[in-house]
Amino acid sequence: MTQGTKATPITVAKGDGIGPAIMDSTLEILDAAGAALDIEEIEIGEAVYKSGIKNGIAPEAWESLERTRVFLKAPITTPQGGGFKSLNVTVRKSLGLFANVRPCVAYHPFVKTNHPDMDLVIIRENEEDLYGGIEYRQSQDVMASLKIISRPGTERIMRYAFEYARANGRKKVTCMSKDNIMKISDGLFHRVFDEIGEFYPDIEKDHMIIDIGTAKVANHPEMFDVIVTTNLYGDIISDVAAEVTGSVGLGGSSNIGENFGMFEAIHGSAPDIAGKGIANPSGLVLGSVMMLTHIGQGDVASKIHNAWLRTLEDGIHTGEIFREGISKEKVGTEGMTKAIIERLGQVPEKFPVKKYPNIAGGLTLPPVRESKWEAKVRVGVDIGINWDKTTDDLVAAILPCVTDNLGLQMISNRGTKVWPDGNAATFCSDNWRLRFVTSNDDHIKTSQVVALMNRMNEAGLNFTKSVMLNTYDGVPGYTVAQGE
Ligand code: NAD
Repeated sequence: MTQGTKATPITVAKGDGIGPAIMDSTLEILDAAGAALDIEEIEIGEAVYKSGIKNGIAPEAWESLERTRVFLKAPITTPQGGGFKSLNVTVRKSLGLFANVRPCVAYHPFVKTNHPDMDLVIIRENEEDLYGGIEYRQSQDVMASLKIISRPGTERIMRYAFEYARANGRKKVTCMSKDNIMKISDGLFHRVFDEIGEFYPDIEKDHMIIDIGTAKVANHPEMFDVIVTTNLYGDIISDVAAEVTGSVGLGGSSNIGENFGMFEAIHGSAPDIAGKGIANPSGLVLGSVMMLTHIGQGDVASKIHNAWLRTLEDGIHTGEIFREGISKEKVGTEGMTKAIIERLGQVPEKFPVKKYPNIAGGLTLPPVRESKWEAKVRVGVDIGINWDKTTDDLVAAILPCVTDNLGLQMISNRGTKVWPDGNAATFCSDNWRLRFVTSNDDHIKTSQVVALMNRMNEAGLNFTKSVMLNTYDGVPGYTVAQGE
């Protein structure tokens, strides 16, 4: 333990597969480096799932997490099927871990990669988007998943990305979204990036559509510095980026919330090599370096990171990165641990030397700004209907139900307009969306919608859902259908 440093309580879980071996290695290195830690161990993962706890984490383990608010976690094996819930998603959501931070660095020439100059960090929004898990079976044939993007959630991740860039000497933040298609949800994500970016004139800003952005990460990763993106895109692009570095075994990752941090390796529990003594502990070691910077033990973090870089440079490599001619000595988990410990106090000669500040508590974010109030006017309603006949039959059934100032404007199927002036070639499923709007500028009353639905109900129409249509300061809060 470092002289005079008060030990920070942390929660540790050794996980499954190679988890216990790489965690023991990491704890040995932390101890040898003088990390001031007061460790509480909890059990998570396969055994807990199999004991009947569906999310893989017992109530007493939560107590420890609530107390320490710092979690160093080894990978776990997620059982297939059986209604089990992802432990990672449960922990992230329950503890409000809104940012996932994943540095992806090439270690050329020691680790084989086509992109020697790659050194980027992906900051992924961790709570929203399609990971809300709000899904519906809308009809026999049509399933739907709801994508949620909120202004406060987006502001927080943008603030985090820019503050992270500043604190870590990064020069550029690239936002990736698909706002050319999802104009409202991803449109907000992009807009808030631009708005928050104005507070950071010292940082270069850039936006890319996620598909071309992912392609560029795969082929020109050296273009990027910090990438900020939504939950699903971030999930995909961070695996692409990790792969491009040359080894998924080397990456650490953190999940950050207000006053909470979870730190881990990006790889899984590798059951194929469990118990063989050959697992590379590096991913978790680098995860623990992120943890040490989070709790303000920057000196120890620097010491471990520099010793780890020096070990790599000295050609001491585990089997999955070992290459004749480049590597000098093939080691297992124990050998790697010993080599890192021997180099504590040394610095790398080729890679830049790491120097982390001793500032605790992670980044302090400015408060989320108050939303500007916009005048909301309800102008219509979208009603979903199950229907297995033709569009013309549907129109014939609906029109008699439309009597007051709430006219049928459009019918779409799978997002494509099929009435009026539909294209006979458009394939129609059994789930239809009917858009009713006011014929003047009046605010639509709930009673009008209910009356319309009652008439449709009496006509034997089968609802799936209804969504109110509003404008905000005159701007529609809904999209038009394809072809409308
Ligand atoms: P994996 O990352 O465990 O393994 C992929 C390949 O990489 C395997 O060949 C493995 O031997 C190798 N590998 C991984 N880590 C290594 C290391 N440290 N040293 C040397 N080689 C290493 O991915 P997978 O096989 O798809 O998943 C196995 C299990 O892990 C699954 O149950 C999955 O659900 C779980 N998983 C857990 C987490 C987590 O807890 N954070 C993350 C991903 C996967």
